[in-house]
Amino acid sequence: MNKTKSPDILWYCGTCSELAYDGFIVLTGKELRKSQKLMEASNKLDQKDSFSLAELMELPEQGKWQCYCRKHALELPDDGYYFGVDRALSFRDLLDWTFHLSYKNWFASTNWQDFIRSRVLNDID
Ligand SMILES: [Zn+2]
Repeated sequence: MNKTKSPDILWYCGTCSELAYDGFIVLTGKELRKSQKLMEASNKLDQKDSFSLAELMELPEQGKWQCYCRKHALELPDDGYYFGVDRALSFRDLLDWTFHLSYKNWFASTNWQDFIRSRVLNDID
């Protein structure tokens, strides 16, 4: 972390709520698999001529991103998508990550937009 400039975004651990500048932004393996299921189910619905509200309601949930301090990130299974909080401190960093992640086929089935919006607006619950 650049000590001479305060970060644009305050990152807190989703487990202990402490500042997590030593930690990681994580889509756990479980959340990644949820994203992939949602993507597959959405693609199937897209191929149908019509679908019911019930079918829409039965879609799997989005995969949820979370920030964890180093201690709590290291307790997670090592099967998800991770990057260091130190690489996501500025608005520019987040824009860069958004472009980078948008090329992943599961990205649109995650809550990245809401996750980032809540962090940028410092609404951290
Ligand atoms: Zn923690």
